[in-house]
Amino acid sequence: MLKKEFKRKDVERMRNLVKGKSDESAEIQVGYTSKKEDHKEGDVWEEDGKKWTIKDGIKQTATKLDEVKKEAILPLFCPKCKSLMKHRNDAKMYKIHKTCFDCVVKMEHKLKIEGKYKEYEKNIIADNAKDYLDHLEQYLLEAINTSNTQYVSEKGEVERWKGGVNKDEFLEKMKTNFTDFRKQVDEYKNKNTNDKT
Ligand SMILES: [Zn+2]
Repeated sequence: MLKKEFKRKDVERMRNLVKGKSDESAEIQVGYTSKKEDHKEGDVWEEDGKKWTIKDGIKQTATKLDEVKKEAILPLFCPKCKSLMKHRNDAKMYKIHKTCFDCVVKMEHKLKIEGKYKEYEKNIIADNAKDYLDHLEQYLLEAINTSNTQYVSEKGEVERWKGGVNKDEFLEKMKTNFTDFRKQVDEYKNKNTNDKT
C-alpha cells in the first residue's frame, strides 16, 4: 500500500526544492515583503469581486477549484471490479487510480510480487511533483498577469509584492527555473531503481 505519509514526505521534498529556488529568485527579482494575514488552506474569501481559496498552498479562484472537484466526482461503482464505492479510501484512491481502494491494494500487491513496485512508486511521486509544478506555474503566471499584488505562501501567509515588478525579467527567470525543476523531476523519474521489493 502506498502510504500517505510517504507520498506527503516526498511531495514535500519537491515542494521545498521548488520553494527554496522560487523564494530565492522572487526575492531578487520581485522583492516581496512578508505580511501575515490569516488565510489558510481551504479558506474561501472575496477579494476584487472574486472568490479565492487556497488549495495545496496555492492561492486560486474558487471557480477553478470547482472545476477540479468536478473532475474528481466519484462514480457509484468501481469501473474495474464493479463493487460499490462507499468508503473514504475509495474516494481518495479513485482520484489517483480511477479504481476502488481494494483494487489498488490488489494491483500494488501484484506489482510487489512482480518486482515492479518501486518503479511504480517512483512514477507516482514524479507525477505528483509534476502536478505540483504545473499548479505552481499556473498560479505564478496568473499572479504576474493580473493586478493582484498578493502572494500566498505554502503556510498560507499572504505576502504582498513590494513596489513595481519587472514582469518580463520575472517571467524569463521563472521559465528558466521551471525548465530546471521539470528536468530534475525527469532525472528522478529516470533514475535507476534497485527493484528488490
Ligand atoms: Zn474495484
